[in-house]
Amino acid sequence: MKCRNCGAEFEEGMFCPECGMKNTEVVISENEVAKTAEEERKKAREAVIAEAKKRVEEEKNEIRERAEKEVWEEAVKAAKQEAAKNISFEDEEIRNEASKRIREEAIPNAAEEEKRRMQEAENRKIKEEKAINRKAIISLILGIASWVGMITVIIPMVGGIWAIVDGVKA
Ligand SMILES: [Zn+2]
Repeated sequence: MKCRNCGAEFEEGMFCPECGMKNTEVVISENEVAKTAEEERKKAREAVIAEAKKRVEEEKNEIRERAEKEVWEEAVKAAKQEAAKNISFEDEEIRNEASKRIREEAIPNAAEEEKRRMQEAENRKIKEEKAINRKAIISLILGIASWVGMITVIIPMVGGIWAIVDGVKA
């Protein structure tokens, strides 16, 4: 054992052969030291294990969080792509719908409009022709009237000339 006063090593007895210090407590103390050391080692081992476990747990959490984040980001990306696809799909649907409406409504409407315009032009032409016919009939009547008028003048004139000629011959 080691004297706790002077530090000298000795094998037997409680008194130090160097300084004479009674060393009864040293035995207890050494036992305690050994016990304490064992406890400290145990504590240290447990602390190391606990620390290692904690690190493993933290790493696991980090990995999980990273994985969750990646999964989340992937999901967000996929959702965005899907949404973009839906939007362009909706766009396309709207375009298709619009062109369908144009085909179904605007084109027949245009055809209808064209038909109506042609009908109007036709009606106008008929009206103009009627007006021209009316003018022609009026001209004809006026022409006939003036002919009748001329003849009614010419016949007495010719009759008068014949009468004069007859009178000259006689
Ligand atoms: Zn001593």
